Amino acid sequence: MAPARTTEVDFTQFYNIVNGEKRSSKEFLHGFNPSTQQDLWDVPIASAKDIEDTIQAAKTAFKSWSKTTLQERSVLLKKYAAAIKPYLGDLGDLVMKEIGKPKGFAHHEAHYACAEAFEFFTNLTLEDEVVQGEDREYVLRYQPLGVVAAICPWNYPLGQATMKFLPGLMAGNTVIVKPSPFSPYSALKLVEIAQGILPPGVLSVLNGNDNLGPLLTTHPSIAKISFAGSVATGKKIAEAAAKTLKRVTLELGGNDATIVCKDVDIEKAAPQVILGAFFNTGQVCAGTKRIYIHEDIYPQFLEAIAKAARSFKVGASDAEGVTIGPVQNEMQYNKVKSIFEDSKTQGHKTIGNGAVIDKKGFFFEPTIVDQPPANSRIVTEEQFGPIVPSMPWSTEEEVIELANDSEMGLGASVWSNDLDQATRIAKQLDVGSVHINSMEKVSIKIPFGGHKESGIGVEGGPGAIKTYCDLQVLHYYKAGDAQVH
Ligand code: NAD
Repeated sequence: MAPARTTEVDFTQFYNIVNGEKRSSKEFLHGFNPSTQQDLWDVPIASAKDIEDTIQAAKTAFKSWSKTTLQERSVLLKKYAAAIKPYLGDLGDLVMKEIGKPKGFAHHEAHYACAEAFEFFTNLTLEDEVVQGEDREYVLRYQPLGVVAAICPWNYPLGQATMKFLPGLMAGNTVIVKPSPFSPYSALKLVEIAQGILPPGVLSVLNGNDNLGPLLTTHPSIAKISFAGSVATGKKIAEAAAKTLKRVTLELGGNDATIVCKDVDIEKAAPQVILGAFFNTGQVCAGTKRIYIHEDIYPQFLEAIAKAARSFKVGASDAEGVTIGPVQNEMQYNKVKSIFEDSKTQGHKTIGNGAVIDKKGFFFEPTIVDQPPANSRIVTEEQFGPIVPSMPWSTEEEVIELANDSEMGLGASVWSNDLDQATRIAKQLDVGSVHINSMEKVSIKIPFGGHKESGIGVEGGPGAIKTYCDLQVLHYYKAGDAQVH
């Protein structure tokens, strides 16, 4: 039996949430369903006053929210999780429509982000740590920062929002979510459901145009920016945040290498390797962006990944059995097409046509580029779509150098039946996460972050709440015993 709906939520009207209230605006934007290119609903663009009111309400709410105990905050967030539960299907449908994510994957995101993430983050604890010194006792405690802006990309609109606001709120901060204007719908509704459960101003959401992000990153009353998005925007945010020394967590792009050793079981490994590249239509930060296959098995493995790629059904997000939906937006679609066209112009061999499959949506046939040179666009850029290069390698030293030859360092995969070899390779990769004998799978339960230009800091894991705190140390002497030194 479906859980009872305790509040009435209208999934066709969208609002900013300012100081606990729904607010519309004089100006609107709207997204597109990437499967059909049809307009989706209007969403209000926050005005300068809406933004200022939201920040001031969050600042005011912080005074009392930060004084509640972790336990009290956990209880309220669990109540919020219960209120979301009847709407998980509706939220999944919104993700399906705004991203073009195949239905099963969209509903999985809703469940993972809005049920499992709540379960994980609301059960985290944060204790003071006591250290005995020679002449004193130290207590290390973690204080919330103030108002946090959670700036999100379009590819996982619910997952990215809850990964940020849940540990942020558990720490005692107040949070303003800023979804991507390409996919604002599910995050707006999710935050709307919190109202009436969390005190006004504790969790807000603002949709905006290009002005909103910079306004948040330069505002003196915002203490931390928790950001996921491109490297280019991450650099702008770091620069803006430096002016007021805001705390920043930057989760940025990747150009992740998958390294396939010669002893793998080709039939078993190949379908997973290629799914690691094309999952979510290739629009995953920690997804395979380059495939390096040992030269001894290169032709057989290439054929096996090509066969697996051909078996993935490409189509509209609500069609049955679809693995690969459309690219999410026209800008990204044009980028993927231009990388494909560059490969064609350079004379690279391609498997798959890069063709427009359905004129209505932003569909792109999954494509493998066979042995492009190391300096070609398809190898050096984050393509973020269903096109991936495949190259042979001969020595470990060579493949490690090739894999590390990127400004980015988010993740990687190594496939080998020899765990010593896999570990030896993995330890030499300059990336945040290495998956051995699996495609990359991000878990909220484990810290996730990038090396080099893929970011600063980590998200998730048992220490997630601390990443939304400053450390304070209390030094306890027995009264009158303190020495001058
Ligand atoms: P993007 O950088 O274009 O936008 C991300 C967010 O930043 C959006 O909400 C956008 O409106 C906002 N923004 C844009 N300019 C801004 C500015 N000057 N100041 C403040 N905010 C600004 O990224 P995108 O296209 O939405 O997402 C795709 C990128 O995100 C890819 O590179 C992908 O790898 C990366 N990503 C990284 C992670 C991670 O955890 N490492 C997760 C998801 C996506």
